[in-house]
Amino acid sequence: MNKRIFLSTPHMGGAELLYVKNAYDTNWVAPLGPNVDGFESDLSKYLGGEVAVAALNTGTAALHLALIILGVRYGDEVICQSLTFAASANPIMYQGATPIYVDSEDETWNMSPALLEEAILDRKAKKNKLPKAIIVVHLFGMPARMEEILAVAQKYEIPVIEDAAEALGSTLKKRKLGTLGDMGVLSFNGNKIITTSGGGALVSHREDWISRARFLSCQACEKVPYYEHKSVGYNYRMSNVSAGIGRGQMEVLSLRIYQRRKNFYNYKHALSSLPGLRFQEEINTDYFSNRWLTAVYIEPVAGEINCENLRLFLEKSNIEARRVWKPMHLQPVFAECPFYGNGVSESLFNNALCLPSGSNLTDYEVNKVIKRIKTFYDI
Ligand SMILES: *Cc1c(COP(=O)(O)O)cnc(C)c1O
Repeated sequence: MNKRIFLSTPHMGGAELLYVKNAYDTNWVAPLGPNVDGFESDLSKYLGGEVAVAALNTGTAALHLALIILGVRYGDEVICQSLTFAASANPIMYQGATPIYVDSEDETWNMSPALLEEAILDRKAKKNKLPKAIIVVHLFGMPARMEEILAVAQKYEIPVIEDAAEALGSTLKKRKLGTLGDMGVLSFNGNKIITTSGGGALVSHREDWISRARFLSCQACEKVPYYEHKSVGYNYRMSNVSAGIGRGQMEVLSLRIYQRRKNFYNYKHALSSLPGLRFQEEINTDYFSNRWLTAVYIEPVAGEINCENLRLFLEKSNIEARRVWKPMHLQPVFAECPFYGNGVSESLFNNALCLPSGSNLTDYEVNKVIKRIKTFYDI
């Protein structure tokens, strides 16, 4: 028997079914309903109680609405971290704006504050106009250098959108990611730390922006007794059934973070003595990652030891490991976009791997992955 060990799979807690059954029994099987309000309020409380939250049908939709609310339009430029999933950048294109990609720094693997400033100054020199927004990503749950990034953003008065799709529960100086920038984006897609089967949320201290997001996400229907529209709307709201799953998942979120962090420590304890292998690390105790995915950098060693060979080796044992995101500046679809780089994201793409990280992995499964990696280094 050789059951596949997956990278990250949904992990229900039990109460989800009760919330969904309640939606069914009360016939709230439509968008909107008490679970949506409840889920928004659960999230707001969890994030510290000072932010408003709009529950939406994807994280991508949340990013798109964030750009619309910040007034990003055709011809604008938006700065975006290059090392990320394409969903961070695609909404820039939906608005007819141009992504300006910025490389990562060595330690957090997230946006380099120095390159961010360089990019802003160069765009200003070339276009005589500042970028309209900055999208910073907390890769695999690891907080970006937000203090430095926010300082640069404030200096040029450019709003910051935190793509915290992978980082629900991560903190910087005890403050929850997604609440540090002007707006934050969460995702509840199937492989994230908690899931609503598909879903997302937009978070902000600005209540007016969040109510605008709710309005736009329901086709921008004006509050009159017939269908009137003064803005272009979207069908982006979360359904009451999905929100029911989300309410159940919120009850186990802290446990899920504990379980994912435990995976990381097990891997680190067993593997960090291997030559040239290093983990994506919290740079100091201010930084707390939910450890959505455990990521390792594999220094290529003469012979066969490199990241892709390790991935193939694990695959032969039916273990799913994944290369880190291919940076956006290397994607054919974004080939024309300006890029401010230092080689970090490219080196991470070439040499780093995400290990199976699900909160539902058994000790047996984690140990099997560890054993296979050690065997790989022995041959
Ligand atoms: C998952 C993810 C998204 C998109 O979320 P969806 O809910 O799948 O639309 C955006 N950014 C990052 C970094 C992600 O990992």
